[in-house]
Amino acid sequence: MIELLMEICLADRPDACARHLLPGPCVEQRALDWVAARPGLTLRDSSCDPAGLSALPVTEVAPGVFVHEGRQELASPENAGDEANIGFVIGEEAVAVIDAGGSRQVAEGLHAAIRARTELPIRWLVLTHMHPDHTFGTEFFREAGAQVIGHARLPNALANRAESYTEAAERTMGPLIARAAAIVPPEETVAETRDLDLGGRVLRLEAWPTAHTDNDLTVRDLATDTWFMGDLVFDRQTPSMDGSVLGWLDLLGDLSGQPAARIVPGHGAAALPWPEGADATRGYFSALVEETRESLASGESLGAAAPRLGKDLRGDWLLFDAFNARNATAIYRELEWE
Ligand SMILES: [Zn+2]
Repeated sequence: MIELLMEICLADRPDACARHLLPGPCVEQRALDWVAARPGLTLRDSSCDPAGLSALPVTEVAPGVFVHEGRQELASPENAGDEANIGFVIGEEAVAVIDAGGSRQVAEGLHAAIRARTELPIRWLVLTHMHPDHTFGTEFFREAGAQVIGHARLPNALANRAESYTEAAERTMGPLIARAAAIVPPEETVAETRDLDLGGRVLRLEAWPTAHTDNDLTVRDLATDTWFMGDLVFDRQTPSMDGSVLGWLDLLGDLSGQPAARIVPGHGAAALPWPEGADATRGYFSALVEETRESLASGESLGAAAPRLGKDLRGDWLLFDAFNARNATAIYRELEWE
């Protein structure tokens, strides 16, 4: 898929590849419009192999509930932001997608995985929170006809970060992939709960107080008792804290009292048992909070504490160096005010 995008920018005529980059009817004209709206991008006549455009691999974690495991990597041109776990649920009348992936290509791959299993309309795209590895593919699903739904605080959160997310996408994945994506606000928001009826099964959306971010939303498939946690739960990959560590620990404590057959974490395995699946995330933050309180009590400065805090946990987590120091800094600042 990357090769395909590389080709697009290099020449001057629309080609067959365009139809594979955009879903739905009238793709050729929409592809032209889409490229025209993006300075620096042109299409060229090239031979592209549609068979090379493959569906993302997905696991059916419960009947009708599919999850794609994102890679445990930082965003790069090679992985096109395929970092987060994303999924879909098929009802008798419609499909709902949970999180859009980190680029248009990832969204396209998930779309292909859906279409390999059902022709039912994709009625909703539910965004579990603002982070770009979960939201950058949103525009693709909106074009495919999905209504985009998120937490009541998601529109503001995205608006405040659109510029920095776009810059980061260009830096990490390159301009081609970054420019093909767009920050798109949800059309509908949830302040507390909202049920989506897919025909024969209902998804329950619940908006939570500040934890991983200030706009975390979970999705529970009532038919199979499968709970999409978004980034409230990390597996194997170091969690990243962009909200409130105390809020996050409180929320996981509360949620662990609610039974579920399984959860889908935001990163790591496609499904985990509940509530044990959150133990590692809770353990990581509990340890960091304890260490940080000791550091603050001893009068250690943030500059001295941030590179040191949590170091003993390094062996337990992937991408530790990419996230831990930032977590330590955020937690130090939060606990400073206790
Ligand atoms: Zn996140």
